[in-house]
Amino acid sequence: NFVSAVVPPEEIGVKFDDIGALEEVKQTLNELVTLPMRRPELFSRGNLLRPCKGILLFGPPGTGKTLLAKALATEAGANFISITGSTLTSKWFGDAEKLTKALFSFASRLAPVIIFVDEVDSLLGARGGAFEHEATRRMRNEFMSAWDGLRSKDSQRILILGATNRPFDLDDAVIRRLPRRIYVDLPDMENRMKILKIFLERENLDSSFQLDKLANATLGYSGSDLKNLCIAAAYRPVQELLEEEKKNGRKEPAPVLRPLNLDDFIQAKSKVGASVAYDATSMN
Ligand code: ATP
Repeated sequence: NFVSAVVPPEEIGVKFDDIGALEEVKQTLNELVTLPMRRPELFSRGNLLRPCKGILLFGPPGTGKTLLAKALATEAGANFISITGSTLTSKWFGDAEKLTKALFSFASRLAPVIIFVDEVDSLLGARGGAFEHEATRRMRNEFMSAWDGLRSKDSQRILILGATNRPFDLDDAVIRRLPRRIYVDLPDMENRMKILKIFLERENLDSSFQLDKLANATLGYSGSDLKNLCIAAAYRPVQELLEEEKKNGRKEPAPVLRPLNLDDFIQAKSKVGASVAYDATSMN
């Protein structure tokens, strides 16, 4: 199962340039991960420059944490393994302990490798008191001890990259093992422009279309919301054409779709809103 889940860097298909915005986050990840993985010899002496073993990406849903993790593996030339907290605890219930052991022994053979743990809170969340299932508890302990047990030779080239929308649910023991914590924020006006530019690069846009107006109208939208909004807008000319065909019959060859205009996006907002509640006073 793991073998099929490992993606070699040349097959990941996402790089930092495909991510609009988040420039500071990309730069930090390059310093913490790309450089030590690509040039381990520069990090092998002394105590100050040590590669980082664990990083936590936290922030609202849909802001590009998964995308960042994949792109980072491309940049660092590392194999990529992705596990999701909730699937691991439900699907592999019982076997999860064995699986965790296998994961870590497998990872040492695959180094350099990035193990991305999405929803790290549900895998390694705060100890759940009386209602916590015994199997979950055992798996968490197994995960922690396997993690601690990475030989120092391996640890240089194995990174655990956790992601969560709920950082406050994390156990102290996990927080300690993820010493670098990076906030992945909702995009501001300028960054929404950058993200939209990526999604609309190859679309047929009306000459009156103004990107800054759209960025301005999407306060509080995450990268993922922006993508869904663009998809909904792009659907409108198709729908119009279908309605026209319903009335007047289908023409051959099918007429070219009309270009997208700002109104398509504004109308699409009623279908795709911002999925995160935000404080408008703190954003622009
Ligand atoms: P969740 O917390 O819900 O798992 P996430 O932070 O991991 O979300 P992603 O899964 O990386 O978010 O983002 C979902 C999709 O949204 C991506 O596949 C991508 O298409 C788009 N997206 C999000 N942020 C960006 C961005 N900054 N640039 C380009 N695309 C983005």
